[in-house]
Amino acid sequence: MSRQNLKGMTVAELQDFVLSIGERKYRGGQVFSWMYAKGASSFEEMSDISKGFRDLLAKSAEIQTLEVVAARRSPKDGTTKFLFCLADGLVVESVLIPPERTSPDAGKRLTLCISTQVGCPLDCKFCATGTMGFTRNLTAGEIVDQVIQAQKHASRRITNVVYMGMGEPMLNYENVIKSVDILTDDRSLNIGAKHITISTAGYADRIRRMADEGRKVKLALSLHSLDNEKRTRLMPITKKFSVDELLDAMEYYYRKTKRRPTFEYIMIDGFNDTASDVKKMVQLSKRIPCKVNLIPFHSIEFTNPSGFASTLKPSGRSRIDDFANALRRENITVMVRSSAGADINAACGQLAVLAIGREGLSQVPSSSRQLPASYAT
Ligand code: SF4
Repeated sequence: MSRQNLKGMTVAELQDFVLSIGERKYRGGQVFSWMYAKGASSFEEMSDISKGFRDLLAKSAEIQTLEVVAARRSPKDGTTKFLFCLADGLVVESVLIPPERTSPDAGKRLTLCISTQVGCPLDCKFCATGTMGFTRNLTAGEIVDQVIQAQKHASRRITNVVYMGMGEPMLNYENVIKSVDILTDDRSLNIGAKHITISTAGYADRIRRMADEGRKVKLALSLHSLDNEKRTRLMPITKKFSVDELLDAMEYYYRKTKRRPTFEYIMIDGFNDTASDVKKMVQLSKRIPCKVNLIPFHSIEFTNPSGFASTLKPSGRSRIDDFANALRRENITVMVRSSAGADINAACGQLAVLAIGREGLSQVPSSSRQLPASYAT
């Protein structure tokens, strides 16, 4: 008889499960806390649960756990990138990002950027993950477990989670929202909803749905250009939801939730960093009160891009600063993201693409894999 994987179940689902094997409902809450708050990956670890119940659980259930197959820490800024192996041998990434040393949050905030899909179908031209194609959605358990396993390697508590790693969260909406519900539960990791950000490449319908559902999580849109034709070249999803449709949905989100969304903007030389782009961003902020994150473009040369993708080059630092200052003069809240982890391939999908390309990690069963020294934890 196959055993039921409990990782990814909500407390209500665990209560139903323990009732189904003849135990009392409250025991579901005990298992929930052990799995998520204490990070237990076996029933033996659940020391305040009776031996009889643990034996019963071991017969009928299991706790699937991601395996850390690589962890690279940047000596420059402390960013740590994890490569996780899933139960079926596929790999995904998460990135642990401390605030900059000069930030007022230094020593307090610790952010984990997590994946929601293996690969991604959206083919954004600046993104290494986009070159992998799409394999499958992650389960809620696999999404939550990135936080649990990364926490075991972190020197302090993970306070913030951003759904901005491999994959488009809105294409795995049910599992993403279920994972949010687990992460925010005070018997689990108890991460405040206000400290969780879900990012999308532009699913206008799901943005509206998120607004209607009323969770307190934050929303970020990977915008990158307000010009429909340019954005379509950069992000083919724009053919499905145009810039106008997206902005309508973002305005709807703001009006409904009263929360300012964040617009993510990767700075690409000569493509989206001109005075006319500044002007469009200023107009946007007048329509939708927002924050803007300017992100230095991490080259994806190692994927051997062709066509339009091969023409993309990072904006120079002074161009990024000029862009930021021009927005600030209009009282727009702007963050210029550092190139965190540039020395460890920390941009979305970079480590996984390199690992798969060099070592064939996703093809090799976990039990027989020999991890090369360069990926050792
Ligand atoms: S940027 Fe995000 S949505 Fe676009 S291809 Fe990469 S992972 Fe997918």
